[in-house]
Amino acid sequence: MKYFFYPLILFTTLLLSCKKDPTTEQSSEKPSSAMTTSSEKHYAIVIHGGAGTIKKANMTPEQEIAYKEKLQEALNVGYQILENGGSALDAVQKTINIMEDSPLFNAGKGAVYNSAGEHELDASIMDGNTLNSGAVAGVKHIKNPINAARIVMDSTHHVMMAGQGAEDFAKLYGIEMVDVSYFDTEKRYEQLLKAQEREKIVLDHTSMNTDELIDDHKYGTVGAVAIDKNGNIAAATSTGGMTNKKYGRVGDSPIIGAGTYANNKTCGVSATGTGEFFIRTLATHETSNLMQYKNLSLQESLDNVIKQIGDLGGDGGMVALDKDANIAWSFNTEGMYRGYKKSNGENVIKFYEE
Ligand code: ASP
Repeated sequence: MKYFFYPLILFTTLLLSCKKDPTTEQSSEKPSSAMTTSSEKHYAIVIHGGAGTIKKANMTPEQEIAYKEKLQEALNVGYQILENGGSALDAVQKTINIMEDSPLFNAGKGAVYNSAGEHELDASIMDGNTLNSGAVAGVKHIKNPINAARIVMDSTHHVMMAGQGAEDFAKLYGIEMVDVSYFDTEKRYEQLLKAQEREKIVLDHTSMNTDELIDDHKYGTVGAVAIDKNGNIAAATSTGGMTNKKYGRVGDSPIIGAGTYANNKTCGVSATGTGEFFIRTLATHETSNLMQYKNLSLQESLDNVIKQIGDLGGDGGMVALDKDANIAWSFNTEGMYRGYKKSNGENVIKFYEE
């Protein structure tokens, strides 16, 4: 009798092993294809155009439209690069170029004046994959300082170059140079005169008296953070610094770990605010460390660092994204020009506290 069952059991076993179980098939293939198909990974870009006294009551509808359009244009340029399979580094650089070329922001055209009535520009860029970075500080003739920062990263063994040397080096690589007058804007000059009247160094956007300096909220340091289809994160920041800053002063924006940081293991971050406090707290690196060593979320890490800055008496904000393309920001000012665009279709632009 038992000899009759042996072929039957064998046949049944063969049949079961050949038959595809739809449930098993789906659950075994979906995660593995999600892990190996790069096109299914989310890519995203988040930007800021400075933080400060940015209040709805101070903005005309025309100003709101102008900022919204420029921020959207910047986001679109970076997003397009990511969508076409380009690198996060290219995305943040080209996105920053759009904002540097606009007088709406305190970077490139529209940079603030220092106490000597000059423009000294700072910028930095970082690759979260290799931790390579490049920065320029105190440059006066480079139309797009972020392009010079990229050259420092790509073509030297250094991280930061400053002043005349940085300019001479950038020239060798065909970086566009301009006369100092290119950076002049009437509004910025008025802002300098007002700041000097009060003999005070002011954070860009921050009105000492909102009524008197109602236009201050129009300008800002710019930053961008992106993650590409390969999961590489990059961050970049460009600025004219702070109105009436002492000649030769360097802020946080060109300092890796202070104004800019990117690490594929954790996140990418770009900052804006009273630079000295972002240097003293190493704000963007601190954000990454809190994620890496304290297991805080991106949002918790940013909030923690902004609180540290606030406790010391500093103002400002940061935008960031993590290795899973989650977007977050945090600021302790009244507003921050900011926005993001993600491969899941989200496209957000905000100015005010909300
Ligand atoms: N962080 C910049 C600086 O201190 C200023 C700004 O963000 O507006 O130079």
